Amino acid sequence: MGKLYIVGIGPGSKDQRTIKAQEVLQSSNVIIGYNTYLKLIADVLDGKEVIGAKMKEEIFRANTAIEKALEPKNIVSLVSSGDPQVYGMAGLVFDLLARRKLDIDIEVVPGVTAALAAAAKLGSPLSLDFVVISLSDLLIPAGEILHKVTKAAEGDFVIVFYNPINKKLLMDAMEIVSKYRKPNTPVGIVKSAYRDDENIILTTISSWRDYMEDIGMTTTMIIGNSLTYRYKNYMITPRGYERKYEI
Ligand code: SAH
Repeated sequence: MGKLYIVGIGPGSKDQRTIKAQEVLQSSNVIIGYNTYLKLIADVLDGKEVIGAKMKEEIFRANTAIEKALEPKNIVSLVSSGDPQVYGMAGLVFDLLARRKLDIDIEVVPGVTAALAAAAKLGSPLSLDFVVISLSDLLIPAGEILHKVTKAAEGDFVIVFYNPINKKLLMDAMEIVSKYRKPNTPVGIVKSAYRDDENIILTTISSWRDYMEDIGMTTTMIIGNSLTYRYKNYMITPRGYERKYEI
């Protein structure tokens, strides 16, 4: 039997990959991933069996990875952008293993997820409790997503939106959040962090709609909580030191 690695490759550029991810990719003889992610790791693909797939072929990709790892001697890397756990391939692979009652040699290699990559580009918006929510309604019904948005807004968590692809759902979600937050609450819109087409916008709950055209498949949005403020081009959520100490 071979080994299956589920590898997070980080947000994009090579220098945001972990050393472990790089080592595992280099040592693999089979690499499987969504075509866009394979482009991001072009530097390690030479001489390997590379299996690309389009979006919405996740189940094919996961099953192929499992089959390949069942073959002797294969070292297989199934790649996800960011971290494989966070709306990536890990959940599906483990689910398939459990359903098929398989026992294979498997390891998850964590990566820098989009929330953290986007946050780094904005300064320090995630320095207190935050919630991540995917706005993709391909698998989860919109009503369920908006319920979670309501609870996160009520709880005064900083909110990170992944997959803001469905514009109607995004507008509904922001409408809910705006009921709980001040109009000047900072909103960060980070597109393609650490990739060539990177674009960083810092706006507010009352003005974010002006940037609707800039929001796409590779955008992560961060909405501040009641304490988040803007200083220059930074979005800052204080950790709480000012409550206890003179700073
Ligand atoms: N597993 C990935 C997330 C996959 S879901 C991770 O941990 O980051 C895809 C969503 O991730 C996109 O819609 C976008 O919201 C976010 N994303 C992925 N790469 C990004 C990047 N370089 N910059 C900003 N957002 C990104």
